Amino acid sequence: MFILLMGPPGAGKGTQAAKLVENFKIPHISTGDMFRAAVKEGTELGKQAKACMDAGQLVPDSVTIGIVKERLAKEDCQKGFILDGFPRTIAQAEALDRTLSELEIRLDRVINITAPDSELVGRMTGRRICKNCGATYHVAFNPSSKNGICDKCGGELFQRDDDREETVINRLSVYQAQTQPLIEYYQDKGLYTEINGLQPIDDVLKDIVSSLRGGQL
Ligand SMILES: [Zn+2]
Repeated sequence: MFILLMGPPGAGKGTQAAKLVENFKIPHISTGDMFRAAVKEGTELGKQAKACMDAGQLVPDSVTIGIVKERLAKEDCQKGFILDGFPRTIAQAEALDRTLSELEIRLDRVINITAPDSELVGRMTGRRICKNCGATYHVAFNPSSKNGICDKCGGELFQRDDDREETVINRLSVYQAQTQPLIEYYQDKGLYTEINGLQPIDDVLKDIVSSLRGGQL
């Protein structure tokens, strides 16, 4: 099963990726992990990516695409993968198409797990982290038993700058603007499925699996 997984921060993409790995026994390939691995292995492209990152520059598409290609060509991707965090632009989507056709792979489905912005903001701004041990809580979904205090170590809980409302709203609007053209790109190819991320975790998974099995493949 060759799956491209999309979804705004807070929609539960990571959780579903883990479930899909379990279900289909295929690797979850996230851009971040892929970059770290290429840098660690010291591949030529990994070195180029590291040089850009160290200089605080964006990694050029040619390097990113090369790293994706190296990764997807590996043995463990022969039967499928869950690609996450790539492509981010139409140019990258077109490059991915070329790479997949060279590897004789056809995407089965592009899954976008979505939820209304108001819900995502609530999920993300409610996150609290222990200053001492790093345990994570959520004021609504997973509260600590004493307000502001870590259950595990008694440490003080805080909100990361990234989880503040204005930052979250900004991240979401950047994400939506970036993603809209990709949605249209994959809709045109008949590969796109939107999944309601507001449902319980297992229902989200069921919807994903039925879109994979029942979609017009
Ligand atoms: Zn703690």
